[in-house]
Amino acid sequence: MTYLLQALQARVGEFVSLRRDIHRHPELAFEEHRTAALVADKLEGWGYAVHRGLGGTGVVGTLQRGQGTRRLGLRADMDALPIEEASGAEWRSQRPGLMHACGHDGHTAMLLAAARHLAEQGRFDGTLNLIFQPAEEGGGGALRMMADGLFEQHPCDAVFAMHNMPGIPQGRLVLREGATMASSDYATITLTGIGGHGALPQHTADPIVAAASLVMALQTVVSRNVDPLQAAVVTVGALNAGRANNVIPATATLELSVRALDREVRTLLERRIKALVQSQAESFGVHASIDWRAGYAVLVNTPEETAFAREVAVELLGAEQVTLQGPPLTGSEDFAFMLERVPGSYLFIGNGDAPGNCMVHHPGYDFNDDNIAIGSAYWVKLTERFLGAGGRPPASKITITAGECRHRPAPEGANSHERSGPVLQHTNAVWRDVTRVTHRRSKARADGMGRISQVPRTGGAASARSDSCAQPLSIGVISCV
Ligand SMILES: [Zn+2]
Ligand SMILES: [Zn+2]
Repeated sequence: MTYLLQALQARVGEFVSLRRDIHRHPELAFEEHRTAALVADKLEGWGYAVHRGLGGTGVVGTLQRGQGTRRLGLRADMDALPIEEASGAEWRSQRPGLMHACGHDGHTAMLLAAARHLAEQGRFDGTLNLIFQPAEEGGGGALRMMADGLFEQHPCDAVFAMHNMPGIPQGRLVLREGATMASSDYATITLTGIGGHGALPQHTADPIVAAASLVMALQTVVSRNVDPLQAAVVTVGALNAGRANNVIPATATLELSVRALDREVRTLLERRIKALVQSQAESFGVHASIDWRAGYAVLVNTPEETAFAREVAVELLGAEQVTLQGPPLTGSEDFAFMLERVPGSYLFIGNGDAPGNCMVHHPGYDFNDDNIAIGSAYWVKLTERFLGAGGRPPASKITITAGECRHRPAPEGANSHERSGPVLQHTNAVWRDVTRVTHRRSKARADGMGRISQVPRTGGAASARSDSCAQPLSIGVISCV
């Protein structure tokens, strides 16, 4: 365990208690008054400049150090869900019908634990903005904060966020470059025909038959219009019509959820669904109206910031605890809107994969408190790296905060990757006799006592292990010079 993880683990009890306190008092979108006040009071107590009430119940805590001009945004969400809790936990919700079923209590606690550590011990040079947003669960709290001037009043060069995910081993970090969460749009379709006696259909225009046909026709949008190598979802989640077996109703309504992992596919889905609805209605002699509501955007992690986040994750936990390119999900997340304005990356932290481990939004779900130390350590390390002296450590410089290193430059005649040299960061173990580390595309070699276990392509991160101390050593592989 690295020094940083140990430091955050040593004080985790306070933030486990805080997480459980928030869990006992869940609040729905834009009603997070108690949670927001708790967050703001804590931040103020630690010396942050606090902006309350941004986008309703949003909070931004800002800490500025040194003369650095870089600005970092870290975001957590605070809202709960209208679900009756059945976790059986001692700290279960005290509010009937409401619970933290998505772990936003944990996200808030992780960012607060990092906030305290950074205020007391953080080594960084620049501006740190901690963004606690309301209403992630469908309310678009991120958009409300942005409409209220989030990035004008608290400019950020990059933003990062984290979500827990059941089904992934506890504490594992899963990153992904590119489209990671789907767009989510909604449509209400109303078919209006001519009602009448169930025995005399020839005198009616039956919206139920039209609706049934439309449900089937809509399946062809995904199967026939979307590229088979692209992802798309068209779900008819509600179909309402009629009340009696012998009455043909005048109207039928359908509620649709429409998702895509690509902005062009998203546009295609809307165009094809609207065309199908109109032509199907016409063929059955009924009238169709569509109320199309754009929801969350596709969440796209930018390449450079994701590569950086991967380096941080691997440095913190070692390559074996990090998935560098996980699969995309068809769920949605309004951090996507922040990523449309500011580059950044969103990752998952495993909530555990034991049998019976409930998925988020399940009444039996609970956030895994073992993640508080890991998640907050990730935030601290990411901050100290992003807002380090000049951002990332310069190439060809070895940084070892403890221990000793004898570094020699890469050998003459090496290709440009090799000549750029490694950056070593060693936290608390003695690393000796590293005489040479070279990097050639996907291969790397360390002479002496070090052994590199994995190196992705240039710009990624490598992890290494010292034979002498068995402590993980992280190596940031620098881009070509
Ligand atoms: Zn959720
Ligand atoms: Zn969530």
